[in-house]
Amino acid sequence: MHISRFPRLHFAHLPTPIEPLENLSKLLGGPQIYIKRDDCTGLATGGNKTRKLEFLIGEALQKNADTVITQGATQSNHVRQTAAICARIGLRCEIILEHRTGSEDPEYLENGNVLLDRLFGASIKTVPAGTDMDAALEESAEEIQKNGGIPYIIPGGGSNPTGALGYVNCAMELVGQLNDRGLKADHLVTATGSAGTQAGLVSGMEGTRSGIPVLGICVGVEKKAQEEKVFDLVQRTTEFLEISGSVNRDAVVANGDYVGPGYGKPTEGMIEAVQLLAREEGILLDPVYSGKGMAGLIDLVRKGHFSKGENVVFLHTGGSAALFAYRNILAA
Ligand SMILES: *Cc1c(COP(=O)(O)O)cnc(C)c1O
Repeated sequence: MHISRFPRLHFAHLPTPIEPLENLSKLLGGPQIYIKRDDCTGLATGGNKTRKLEFLIGEALQKNADTVITQGATQSNHVRQTAAICARIGLRCEIILEHRTGSEDPEYLENGNVLLDRLFGASIKTVPAGTDMDAALEESAEEIQKNGGIPYIIPGGGSNPTGALGYVNCAMELVGQLNDRGLKADHLVTATGSAGTQAGLVSGMEGTRSGIPVLGICVGVEKKAQEEKVFDLVQRTTEFLEISGSVNRDAVVANGDYVGPGYGKPTEGMIEAVQLLAREEGILLDPVYSGKGMAGLIDLVRKGHFSKGENVVFLHTGGSAALFAYRNILAA
């Protein structure tokens, strides 16, 4: 697939490494687990939004925007990475934070990603849970236009066909790495939220006919709703790439068993996964996404979902900055 025909700004540290998790694999006694380190994309503590932002910011500059507007939950990693790249290239950045979890812990409200958003000089507006965030983005854009500015809206999580190109690119990068070292991957597992990561990966894996199935572990909604959200974006992304029809609905698989009480709300499995990866591998996960994603992977290994001789790659999507916002839960 020829993605260099799309506008893009290169600032991610790529390719990200792929490493074996020897200790975790031994401890669990199941398949060999590898980790693709997209927590190391290099932008302001890294994470998966960096790859999406290369294409989104490329498009914003092509459209001569001077202000980027985006939104997310209070501890959004997407918002933090957007604020960082805007600071670096001199775009104004307006962010709208939804108080989605209802947590009143001052660490949650001001530490972690929020502290970093402020350091990057973004202008921050906070709105209550349940606000129509797309309408809020439109309102901000109109305001900016009225004042003579040129806004560029990035949807929540950077999840539209332009952003998903970042993960089409990641799928191709990963397949190249596996081929180079003669490593056969049987499964790719990742946390799935606003859907751009999984949609891009599935479009890339299927578009290149790699035969590597992608399993998304839900962090917000249940299986069916998540699969529909991902498949809808797969269809729009493959259309954008002019490879419409290349992905069947059954290539989109999500598991909704590890969401717990809701988005951003801790689960025992998440706490165990964060602690286990820290103690066994010296790797930092996060409490909202990669912690729940890894909790799903660990539980599926324990249940015998994967065979012993298989190789499973976990995509680490980043988010460690949010650990500091969950100090009271993780340090207890
Ligand atoms: C946003 C995010 C995800 C989920 O990716 P989507 O493309 O929104 O599905 C996973 N992990 C981390 C750390 C994130 O910030």
